Amino acid sequence: MSVKENLFRINDEIANAAKKSCRKIDEINLLAVSKFHPVAKIEEAIKAGHFLFGENRVQEASEKFSSLQKKYPNARLHIIGTLQKNKVLKAVQISSCIESVTSLSLLQEIEKQCAKINKKIDILFEYKTGEESKLGFTTLEELYTVLDFCTKGNTPHIVVKGFMTMAPFTTEEKILRKAFQTMREISEKAKKDFSSLSLNVLSMGMSNDFKIAIEEGSTEVRIGTSIFGERKY
Ligand SMILES: *Cc1c(COP(=O)(O)O)cnc(C)c1O
Repeated sequence: MSVKENLFRINDEIANAAKKSCRKIDEINLLAVSKFHPVAKIEEAIKAGHFLFGENRVQEASEKFSSLQKKYPNARLHIIGTLQKNKVLKAVQISSCIESVTSLSLLQEIEKQCAKINKKIDILFEYKTGEESKLGFTTLEELYTVLDFCTKGNTPHIVVKGFMTMAPFTTEEKILRKAFQTMREISEKAKKDFSSLSLNVLSMGMSNDFKIAIEEGSTEVRIGTSIFGERKY
């Protein structure tokens, strides 16, 4: 199936999952994860009317998106993978959101580089609900430390939008649902305790588990394989 057909089908499945849990379709965004896929495939998606993409490696993302964004100014990119400090400048130059913020020191580096180029950027804090993610916050206390830091005026170039998680690598629905519920509960609690931030984004759900993630409150699903096909590493 073509990228266009896949996008059509996935959007339909997202709509159905939203309906099933009495949620509005426009509460849920689709991030098309184009890592390891060529620019031509991304262009197919753009031509089908899709403009929001995710990449996990900054170097690859930069090679693909610096030219794409000239041609299609509406195309937006989120960075979703482990981010090294020396790649932060490039990452903030090419993206509108960094979803994989996993430490206070990384947050500070993002602030520093954004200040340098005078750019404001969205971020999500990545929380570990499974062994799938190498890095990520593992306790509420750790998360509260960085959220607190952000409410104190330390990060004028950063807009904290919410949280991202990768569920454990399993097909067992119970385990997946539990992981998404944990993330949802943390996000609800943080939303109340840090009401000066707008923590409305919950990025969770991938090709194999996005329907469950939507039922459990996801506002952004990150889908690669079901749109672009298998990745050839
Ligand atoms: C690769 C990746 C995805 C997409 O995974 P698929 O199973 O191909 O849909 C989503 N989120 C992150 C963080 C990824 O690295």
